[in-house]
Amino acid sequence: MAAHPHPAPTDPAGDPTTAALIAAHPALSMHAMDGLMLDEVPLAAIARAVGTPTWVISAATLRDRLASLRAALGPDVAIHYAMKANDHLAVLRILAAGGAGADVVSGGELARARAAGIAPGNIVFSGVGKSRAEMALALAEGIGQINVESAEELGRLSAVASAMGRTATVALRVNPDVDADTHAKITTGKAENKFGIAWEDAARLYAHAATLPGLAPVGLAVHIGSQILSMAPYRAAYARVAGLVRELRAGGHAVTHLDCGGGLGISYRGETEASPAAFAGALRSTLGGLDLALSIEPGRWLAGPAGLLLASVIQEKQTAHRRFVILDAAMNDLLRPALYEAWHGIVPVSPIDALAPSSPADVVGPVCESGDSFALGRLLPRLGEGALVALLDAGAYGSVMSSSYNARAFAAQVLVDGAKWAIIRARPPVDTLWEQDICPAWL
Ligand SMILES: *Cc1c(COP(=O)(O)O)cnc(C)c1O
Repeated sequence: MAAHPHPAPTDPAGDPTTAALIAAHPALSMHAMDGLMLDEVPLAAIARAVGTPTWVISAATLRDRLASLRAALGPDVAIHYAMKANDHLAVLRILAAGGAGADVVSGGELARARAAGIAPGNIVFSGVGKSRAEMALALAEGIGQINVESAEELGRLSAVASAMGRTATVALRVNPDVDADTHAKITTGKAENKFGIAWEDAARLYAHAATLPGLAPVGLAVHIGSQILSMAPYRAAYARVAGLVRELRAGGHAVTHLDCGGGLGISYRGETEASPAAFAGALRSTLGGLDLALSIEPGRWLAGPAGLLLASVIQEKQTAHRRFVILDAAMNDLLRPALYEAWHGIVPVSPIDALAPSSPADVVGPVCESGDSFALGRLLPRLGEGALVALLDAGAYGSVMSSSYNARAFAAQVLVDGAKWAIIRARPPVDTLWEQDICPAWL
């Protein structure tokens, strides 16, 4: 039995209400007895068993989102999950079982993808700075494609591949100089960003790559940024790239593959999320008819809405100026608010709290930084010591960005799958934080 409160869809600050946030997440429901549930599991039961803070991720949501992307794109567009969003082996296994490959940005991610059982042919290596050791690992594993981002990198990869007697299948990541209309820290396709090959150098470098030993250039790659909600920047970027494909082909080069990048945005604060159908339309309208093997690299769109961070209230603190809700989760767990001024929905887990009258509060963590803040002036009920809250849409760029700052142990991780749930990473004992410390003998 669901007990949804029925206030307006937004509160006076323009924030979505608790009811609207729950309604926007198919995996979430508020149960009159059990409180906030993720799929069929009460979050309070997880907190009782595992403690807090704990990351909780829904297997069904991961599967459903991958399936809806696949349905919109059709079988011919390869999906390489950008695993930097959430690289847990269980997440990788679920997405790989749904047919996704992986987009990796380091040797560590490549090793993780292989440990999760992803076939090397379904792995693409992106990133602005790959070491020779990482290149050698990628070639030894025989991965599907390496996206190269500079003339210098082409030279180094050619040398590594030649020395190994291998041929690297490469795409050139071009920078289309398009504004993705997103946060400055997650835009990657402007000329001033460090990413990709400058537009005016692209044709010349493609021709150059074809002359280098150990390299087989097969196409282009483009990734303009993250949390992109409008299709306009995608259309602008893909139209530019389509022109470059035609130019290269006219120059006698084979261009068979186009990696269209990731960046699809999700609804954190009631925005309309990027729709798979609209994205498929943008691909078709700009690249259809070019006879290219297309691939995409979504990270956030697949994993973000699947996960949340479950936290407990340590206490409220009322000053002459502000009301603070102090959580046991902090910026070392979920960095996005501090790093990107990101907004995350915060939903009380108790059904009584969810229906209680609310007033503005600043939601903060215990870390000794003013930046350790999850929300300002958020409408929340009075939350007593031990009250549980869920920070929503934390499945991407959440646990992977955690640190142990302030000697705080990493949070536990739990996977929910229907009515089943399991710990997928145990909360490490605090002494593991100094396990690798070495005190020199002279001390
Ligand atoms: C980060 C990244 C992605 C994924 O971005 P999302 O916004 O999470 O979809 C895809 N491709 C490359 C090259 C990236 O660096």
